[in-house]
Amino acid sequence: MAGPDAEALLSGNRRALAKAITLVESSLAAHARAAQSLLDALLPHTGRSIRIGISGVPGVGKSTFIEAFGLYVLGQGRRLAVLAVDPSSPVAGGSILGDKTRMEALSREPAAFIRPSPSKGALGGVAHKTRETMLLCEAAGFDVILVETVGVGQSEYEVASMVDFFLVLMLPNAGDELQGIKRGIMELADALVINKSDGESLALANRTRQHYQNAMNLLTHAGAWVPRVTTCSATERRGIAEVWTMICGYREQGAASGDFERKRAQQNAGWLRHLIGEILEQRFRAEPVVRARLPVLEQQVLRGEITPYAAAMRLFAELG
Ligand code: GDP
Repeated sequence: MAGPDAEALLSGNRRALAKAITLVESSLAAHARAAQSLLDALLPHTGRSIRIGISGVPGVGKSTFIEAFGLYVLGQGRRLAVLAVDPSSPVAGGSILGDKTRMEALSREPAAFIRPSPSKGALGGVAHKTRETMLLCEAAGFDVILVETVGVGQSEYEVASMVDFFLVLMLPNAGDELQGIKRGIMELADALVINKSDGESLALANRTRQHYQNAMNLLTHAGAWVPRVTTCSATERRGIAEVWTMICGYREQGAASGDFERKRAQQNAGWLRHLIGEILEQRFRAEPVVRARLPVLEQQVLRGEITPYAAAMRLFAELG
């Protein structure tokens, strides 16, 4: 592959951007090196965006919301990129998120760029590639980055750790559901937005908002931002402008207090620690002693002949 043109990418050329993302997503070592030197060159041009994570269970209305929200944001003169971290892609063999056919009107807009989830593989997995893709989009002049994910498994934590603002879409179904909501998600969220607040669900949505607001008030959060609970209807396009106003307010408040830059710095430090852990593990597993002995020790642990701790210690002793 010929190297992507950094100048073309910086001028907002979509083909150059798409090509650069393909390079970043490639698992070939030569491509990884080329991707790193491109990212190094582009780094001074990154970071000038607001990064927003959007999560929610399938069917909550993520794609409908992103389409409505995205079109509104474009109307504010912004350029928008939609990326996806899709926990199902390696299993289902295709991505269900960040799909252009789910956001048809948005995908036709010249100021919008939609990229589905990459497949798993290289160091750091999908989240790593999405982080780098985000930087490429910023360098190409996209100043609002949406990262979509599904409210299952690890992907919510991964996305929350790479964005400035984490928004969780919820359904209007107060009481019962509240019991089941994952406390972890409440702690991650900068806002809970109750979608489908329309028609017969309107009254229920308002009760749900009150329930979640009460639950939120019981939690402690890092930084000065108090997480909000709002309602919207993605299909009727109500409550959408309010979400954008809220996020702009978050950014202004964070810029004034220093929380915004502090969070990004902490995310980078956390990501560094994560990468070091991954590199160490990769190198460890590539050691001939480990490759030969680990499967044997695993069998012994499975048969109950040795404790996991003793097995780990023995392996490290043999490694020297
Ligand atoms: P996703 O799986 O989270 O991306 O959800 P979709 O955006 O595909 O929406 C799932 C279904 O909910 C579709 O039939 C939408 O038309 C419907 N839907 C989405 N947003 C709303 C809303 O605000 N109100 C109502 N009544 N239906 C909605």
